[in-house]
Amino acid sequence: MTTSSATVRPDRRAELAAGLALVEARIADACTEAGRDRAEVTMIAVTKTYPASDVVALAGLGVTDMGENRDQEAAGKATEVSAAGVHPCWHFIGQLQRNKARSVVRYADVVHSVDSVRLARALATAAADRERPLAALLQVSIDGDPARGGALPGSAEPDVGLGPVAEAVAGAPALRLAGLMAVAPLGWEPERAFSRLAEVAEEFRAVHPGATALSAGMSGDLEFAIRYGATHVRVGSALLGMRPTLR
Ligand SMILES: *Cc1c(COP(=O)(O)O)cnc(C)c1O
Repeated sequence: MTTSSATVRPDRRAELAAGLALVEARIADACTEAGRDRAEVTMIAVTKTYPASDVVALAGLGVTDMGENRDQEAAGKATEVSAAGVHPCWHFIGQLQRNKARSVVRYADVVHSVDSVRLARALATAAADRERPLAALLQVSIDGDPARGGALPGSAEPDVGLGPVAEAVAGAPALRLAGLMAVAPLGWEPERAFSRLAEVAEEFRAVHPGATALSAGMSGDLEFAIRYGATHVRVGSALLGMRPTLR
């Protein structure tokens, strides 16, 4: 018998179960502290650099949502996982080049990193043949530094202003404007970053009331993100272990 790359080893399964228990406890505590219902927060397991077998194991432990940040890695992994009979909700969370849009829409259910009108248009074209619209979160720049990616709140810049990007997504039948996403900028206290993000999200929902998702918080700062309204936390290393390279 051949062993597929999606075969789960019992020792790894136990390791992941232990990581999951710790992360679950952190999320539950943070919800209690914030006076929020645990059901308001979806945990996305960020499986980048880890094999398809880890996705299968996490799904077996009850994790429904998986995140990846590079198309080259994610496309093959999603195919392997699907071949193993496992069908998680896939979130694409990394910087996305327009020429990868066609590939990403084949497996992703949600894209968290829409940060330009040009990318929104590329995704809309690529997603035209999908049965269901692709859920799109707009990545926002918290510190306003355009070099690091993210649409700019309060800017009318035609390609990367948050308003124009939102209009491009909202006007595309193949896309559904689901909400906002952000990463705390390097050197910022998470408290300051996520309280700023909460302000941006509140103003955004006044214009786009259906865009209720807020993707924020990773292994190191998920408590702060939940305090400031995150509906999706993206957890990699605290769940799966430290990745060999910083990515
Ligand atoms: C890798 C990654 C994460 C997860 O980071 P951890 O610190 O390992 O939890 C979250 N969001 C994005 C955009 C990522 O690229």
